[in-house]
Amino acid sequence: MLSGKRGLVVGIANEASIAAGCARAFAGAGAKLAATYLNEKALPYVKPVTDAFGCELLLPCDVRIPGQLDAVFERIGAQWGGLDFLLHAIAFAPAADLHGRVVDCSAEGFALAMDVSCHSFLRMARLAEPLMPNGGCLLTVTFYGSERVVAHYNLMGPVKAALESAVRYTAAELGAKGIRAHAISPGPIKTRAASGIAHFDELLAAEAAATPERQLVDIDDVGALAAFLVSDAARRVTGTIIPVDSGQHLMA
Ligand code: NAD
Repeated sequence: MLSGKRGLVVGIANEASIAAGCARAFAGAGAKLAATYLNEKALPYVKPVTDAFGCELLLPCDVRIPGQLDAVFERIGAQWGGLDFLLHAIAFAPAADLHGRVVDCSAEGFALAMDVSCHSFLRMARLAEPLMPNGGCLLTVTFYGSERVVAHYNLMGPVKAALESAVRYTAAELGAKGIRAHAISPGPIKTRAASGIAHFDELLAAEAAATPERQLVDIDDVGALAAFLVSDAARRVTGTIIPVDSGQHLMA
């Protein structure tokens, strides 16, 4: 389904990452992949994951460090001459701001969470645009705490709402070039980022009991949807926020 396509995966921390499930699905469908790691400390956890699917390029990328994201796209341009899709699966908020009330969050914490979790998607879209002369697909990952108040999701709620809006504007602005954009919205999955959300185990237990399918989703479920979205089969589908949550978004 993806043979001949070249993709960039940003957000693998370890084998439990949503980005790892997506990378596995992309590679399994025949895509050629580049991936990033946050820093040298993260590399020993990322490399075994990327080695397992034969990643061609593994590059450092902390989106807060000026120039690092640009360097990733420069290297891809030099090595591949183009890019067909990317996955942005990163988020961050300072613990002090994440664990308090949204109304109390600091301006600095809010700005940092928005920069890493939302504006970085727009920067990736801008850098990908010249590498996608024949179109492409940009994916990010959101959560239904953007629309509804989910206990303990706090600051990430407004940040994900902004990310979803950024996806819609990106899809509208780049659509004429054949560049599509989506946010996948998975139900809760136990990952390192999720462990930063207070009482996450309670959210998982409640979700498992209440979803129409009575099932939690896993990273391979997200990967299967991601592989479809970046494929030509989804060529007329853009600008959506797509739940993969066993039907939880239907419930009051
Ligand atoms: P994860 O901890 O495996 O991945 C988060 C990634 O963000 C890590 O690879 C980390 O290195 C990266 N990151 C953080 N700050 C960064 C920076 N400054 N520069 C570059 N990368 C940075 O957790 P995950 O759950 O796989 O998270 C991936 C995405 O999925 C996030 O956007 C998260 O909000 C979203 N999401 C997660 C869930 C869930 O329940 N786990 C549900 C819905 C959406």
